[in-house]
Amino acid sequence: MIIHNNFTGGNISVKEINGDTVVLKNELRDTEGTWFYWAFCVEGAEGRTITFQMEPTRLGYWGPAVSYDLAEWRWLDSIDGDSFTYSFAENESKVYFAHNMLYHPNRFEELCKKHDLEISTLCTSRKGRIVPCLHIGNGKNSIIITARHHACESTGNYVLEGIIEEISRSPIENSTLLIVPFVDYDGVVDGDQGKNRIPHDHNRDYIDEPIYPEIRAIKSYADINGCNYGFDLHSPYHKGRQNNNIFIVRNMVEKLDRFDKISSLLEAEITDGSMKYQKENDYPPLTGWNQPSSNFGFTMNSRPECILAFTLESTYFGSPDNKVSQERLIELGRCYARAIKKYIKSNE
Ligand SMILES: [Zn+2]
Repeated sequence: MIIHNNFTGGNISVKEINGDTVVLKNELRDTEGTWFYWAFCVEGAEGRTITFQMEPTRLGYWGPAVSYDLAEWRWLDSIDGDSFTYSFAENESKVYFAHNMLYHPNRFEELCKKHDLEISTLCTSRKGRIVPCLHIGNGKNSIIITARHHACESTGNYVLEGIIEEISRSPIENSTLLIVPFVDYDGVVDGDQGKNRIPHDHNRDYIDEPIYPEIRAIKSYADINGCNYGFDLHSPYHKGRQNNNIFIVRNMVEKLDRFDKISSLLEAEITDGSMKYQKENDYPPLTGWNQPSSNFGFTMNSRPECILAFTLESTYFGSPDNKVSQERLIELGRCYARAIKKYIKSNE
């Protein structure tokens, strides 16, 4: 049996193997403090039943996310404290396990192919990778949509997939879009936590001299084209309380009436197949961690031409009556895109 992290998004350190019990630890790398992301692959365990022992606060409510191909993910739906046990069938030569349902960059490429969208280059990353982006439309409203400012927060990419599907079917009128699906692209590929990087992470880099090329590129795009609307996609903390919900981070007291409007529109668009969203779960400004900072939402929302910019947080696991799946997050994205279209139209 081999346990490894040698794949896109991989993150694990094997501490001990005692017979059929494996003790694992996630890799924090350059994270300040602790964080919870991990993803590993098991090969050559056909026919065996193995218990994987994690550290506390590393497993969600439904146990690990499980995949054979890094594309389709399901929950194991079995957990025992900080460990889970998996019986490998005779034909299961390679199984992936992760904290959450990963979103592979290949999936984004296939989505673009399907909708005939040409992938452009945002910039070259610190590690020399080409960071992808999309330019869509050519209208007066400049809209910037981003995901993965924090590398591990993959739920936002499923929401973005739904947004792209919906706007491919029915474009946002009078708009020019920049879409950056993986802002911390190196972190996404390498399987970093991405949150609370030292000295600061991508979503605290909207400063005069950004240290990440991706943020320099997004900032200068906004300086040239403006940012009338900014929609940033994140996953919240691991789990518990508001982290089990879908919620908007209302980042500015002065714009609460605008937040009320888009929240009501989103609530009204939610379908049975979508993750549920209730505006009462939105996070109020100047509360707890929601303070003015050099993040995308607050910085863009502070620009004079900006009507509204903020983060939508989408839970990793959900709750028993609102459980995360790939399809339910994607459908949330379709609902969200319709709400965005109505909101922009109402401001014309
Ligand atoms: Zn985040």
